[in-house]
Amino acid sequence: MDEKDSIISSSSSTTTGTTSSAIIDPMAGLNGIKNYTFKNWAGIFSCKPQLFFQPSNIDEVTKIILNAYKEGKTFTVIGSGHSPSDLCCANPNGWLVNLDKLNRVLDFKVYDGGNYADITVEAGLRVYKLNEILGAKGYTIQNLGSISEQSVAGITATGTHGSSAFHGLVSSQYVNLTIINGKGELIYLDSETNQDVFRAALLSLGKIGVIVKATIRAIPKYKIKSTQEVIHFETLLEKWDDIWTSSEFIRCWWYPYTRKCVLWRGNKTTEQVHEVTRKSWWGTKFGRIFYECLLWISVKIYPGITPFVESFVFNRQYGAVETFGNGDVAIQDSIDGLNMDCLFSQFVDEWGCPLLNGPEVLRSLDHSIQQAASNKEFYVHVPIEVRCSNTTLPPHQLDYSHRTSTSKGAVYGNILRPYLDATPRDLQYAEHVTNNQLTLYINATIYRPFGANTPIHKWFTLFEHTMGAAGGKPHWAKNFLGDVSMLPKGVKPKEKYLDYEMRGMASEIIKWYGEDLIKWQQIRKQQDPNGVFLANKDWCIRNGILEI
Ligand SMILES: Cc1cc2nc3c(=O)[nH]c(=O)nc-3n(C[C@H](O)[C@H](O)[C@H](O)COP(=O)(O)OP(=O)(O)OC[C@H]3O[C@@H](n4cnc5c(N)ncnc54)[C@H](O)[C@@H]3O)c2cc1C
Repeated sequence: MDEKDSIISSSSSTTTGTTSSAIIDPMAGLNGIKNYTFKNWAGIFSCKPQLFFQPSNIDEVTKIILNAYKEGKTFTVIGSGHSPSDLCCANPNGWLVNLDKLNRVLDFKVYDGGNYADITVEAGLRVYKLNEILGAKGYTIQNLGSISEQSVAGITATGTHGSSAFHGLVSSQYVNLTIINGKGELIYLDSETNQDVFRAALLSLGKIGVIVKATIRAIPKYKIKSTQEVIHFETLLEKWDDIWTSSEFIRCWWYPYTRKCVLWRGNKTTEQVHEVTRKSWWGTKFGRIFYECLLWISVKIYPGITPFVESFVFNRQYGAVETFGNGDVAIQDSIDGLNMDCLFSQFVDEWGCPLLNGPEVLRSLDHSIQQAASNKEFYVHVPIEVRCSNTTLPPHQLDYSHRTSTSKGAVYGNILRPYLDATPRDLQYAEHVTNNQLTLYINATIYRPFGANTPIHKWFTLFEHTMGAAGGKPHWAKNFLGDVSMLPKGVKPKEKYLDYEMRGMASEIIKWYGEDLIKWQQIRKQQDPNGVFLANKDWCIRNGILEI
């Protein structure tokens, strides 16, 4: 079995889980596994639920929910466990439910003379499998994040995004969802049927219902012709107004200690696939181990060498010469172009703010990073990812009949904003895309070389203050920290926190989401009156998504 295929194997350690014995649990009447330890992808967070379930059909999911409902039990449903935070953990008396075995294709229909197609799948299917299945039919997912390991349910549940001024959250490609709510009821959701619940479930954090099926809108398979340029940090800021809409897909990796960035821009093309000399130094066995060793030394022995390590690695990977306007060109299958090598286990704190605030934010972060290094206060790892998306939505579905194989932009699966969409609310849709519509994402990555925890608290706290002041909000899945001063009234902070432990952001989250959060909470309560999905209640309280 491919390691990516399942988060559990029968007897030994796997990507994210270990188990020792399978039992028939009398209460559930289902195969619940005891002594299962879940670990998220980064290996930072783990938990040992009372029972672990991997149902293989909808009836089994319903049974688990009904048993939990009846017995006053709680559980967390997980996909591939790629969320960096402790979002997926369950309390020791709670259960964990994983849908890896719900991975069938249920339907496939082509529309508009082949301009798009809707594929209905069971929601535990991994995205890389979906890519293969669609590819065999001549179609592909429209836009993706940096990886394809996630599950179809998980990728929508936290607001996963790629990087494009012409596409929004991955959830905007979802035409419908079928959930089983906390009462065991199977409910179909789309833009017309149960619209409010659909808006809540599109970004649900697993708290509205177990998503068992989803229909995703795909487009004909495409290739991406990309250029990759090494540019100066100042060039990025000077060209800010023009860069983001210059290509359909775009991302920028910022290396503060070298004062350089790598700018990757791509468009759909009909040209033949042609990989160029874009060799990856850290893609080789030697480069990768050497890089991780250097990081380990900088984390465990001498933090002061971090800027030198990062500059050395940058030069090995990209070279020292600036290539703005003259980058290397590659033509790749869309998935290969959009996904990337994320290297090592890592902490990530990603926030989205209006793109117009970008230059000011980046200058401020740059100043803080340089200052911190000269004061030996903290060091950052690289790259800091700078990306964008366009989560503004048209007032009605668009006419897709004139699309060609290289047309830019989304064929929307739905045009509803999820209640918990973390991107700025007041950006307005316009047919002609401009920077005014865009969300800027900045992703601060800190590696854990060979699993060693690098201190993050000082850097992430500063980062969060800067992003918050720029109108930003955190990505729900990531390692945002917050502060004990943001805990809800009546919630006592812990006496001691680990450096990387999330304190919580309740007061800010309540302020930021306002009426939308209240609506989401109401729907949550209706769909899950007994709190079956609250096996990680602590996470929910510290972040204000539950009333206490
Ligand atoms: C290396 C790496 C790269 C990443 N790149 C990006 C990126 O480019 N852009 C981006 O936005 N994010 C990115 N992420 C974050 C990732 O896309 C999200 O965390 C995503 O939610 C993970 O999907 P998953 O299937 O692993 O879900 P999990 O992490 O297992 O679960 C995430 C949430 O989904 C809920 N859930 C899972 N299954 C179901 C279900 N069947 N029904 C209801 N709820 C469910 C869970 O309860 C939980 O709240 C990245 C993460 C990693 C580790």
